[in-house]
Amino acid sequence: MQQASLSLLDTDYHHLLHPYTDMMSPQPVELVTSASGCRLTLADGRELIDGMSSWWAAIHGYNHPRLNQALTDQTKSMAHVMFGGLTHEPAIRLCRQLLECVPEGLEKVFLCDSGSVSVEVSIKMAIQYWYSQGLTEKKKFIALRRGYHGDTFGAMSLCDPVTGMHHLFAETLTPQLFAPAPTVAFDAQWDPGDIAELAQMLETHQQEVAAIVLEPIIQGAGGMFFYSPQYLGAVRELCNKHNVLLIADEIATGFGRSGKLFACEHAHISPDIMCIGKALTGGYMTMAATLCTEKIAQTISASGLPLMHGPTFMANPLACAVASASLEVLFSSDWQANVSRIEHQLNLELTPCRQLPAVKSVRVLGAIGVVELESEPDAACLQSKLTEQGVWIRPFGKLVYIMPPYIISPQELSKLTSAIYNACQ
Ligand SMILES: *Cc1c(COP(=O)(O)O)cnc(C)c1O
Repeated sequence: MQQASLSLLDTDYHHLLHPYTDMMSPQPVELVTSASGCRLTLADGRELIDGMSSWWAAIHGYNHPRLNQALTDQTKSMAHVMFGGLTHEPAIRLCRQLLECVPEGLEKVFLCDSGSVSVEVSIKMAIQYWYSQGLTEKKKFIALRRGYHGDTFGAMSLCDPVTGMHHLFAETLTPQLFAPAPTVAFDAQWDPGDIAELAQMLETHQQEVAAIVLEPIIQGAGGMFFYSPQYLGAVRELCNKHNVLLIADEIATGFGRSGKLFACEHAHISPDIMCIGKALTGGYMTMAATLCTEKIAQTISASGLPLMHGPTFMANPLACAVASASLEVLFSSDWQANVSRIEHQLNLELTPCRQLPAVKSVRVLGAIGVVELESEPDAACLQSKLTEQGVWIRPFGKLVYIMPPYIISPQELSKLTSAIYNACQ
């Protein structure tokens, strides 16, 4: 490797912190110099095929001409202006596009900085909704075990207390109520017993519960499990029955990943509040949004109080412009055909992994493929086995999973699946 690269990696090792990584002796990292389509180019000239879409975000691949253009065009008029007392066309255009494609009933859009922040905003909306009606005791949330909703304190309080990576902060977090994780798989025969404990919990606690928060259909970071749409439908009914709001965290699932534009569509339901993020800007900029119904907005407004949130970089025009372009690219492509093509190929090529002794199960939904191992592997060793085969796949605990850009070619996808097979042997 070149001297310059070694020096960069040296500074990185000694001073830069990475996600969920030891502060003094971090695991090795790869030095990326550019990315294009589904390929990452490393400083030493190697090329890796990307299986991660940079954590669900880069759905159109990297260095996309239309997204690049939108971003550079926007820099020529303005990179940013405050959103208090000012507005701009990029935000308004994006808002219109979102309203056209989100589940029915969602009418108000709060544009914020990141997924975790959008979850914080959803918590405030739900609490303020009940507060406005004098129901000040309705301020607790029911979340699901194995759920993941982000890394800020409000969002952390909703993550699974054990698998949520945050048990260390348990004493500091607002205590919430946790219902068992869904167990009936996406394609399996529905069993109403799967929702019984949640139903019981609502009977007992509805006076103090503001909302149920869940990741629709796909529990992501908490285990990559795909659950029955009937579960989600039943939760919607329970929320109506018990006067509790439903918050759908579509941050990972939004924008087509599960085969539907939003995972809620699998159950034909609309949430009262929805969080989106990750793929919103096609992986270009950090931006997320919290959407809610007209009824929630009216009710909060009737209290005379504003919604109590307003980040410095709210509705950043660069992010809005690139998000707009990303939605245009999505809707002008046959994304559904792409996602189902990927789903078909993942099923075909990952199924043989079931035969491997180290593998516990294989699951595929939309453009997501998951191989769950029997036991937790040596992370660094598994990581290097994958990288050596020219692919970028980042295993998490017992899970080796991919969610590639929708534009991935069949040949590139085969490289990812065969690398997984070889690495799990
Ligand atoms: C990634 C994620 C978040 C957090 O989003 P950040 O942008 O990382 O803050 C929240 N909920 C779900 C379901 C996610 O996948």
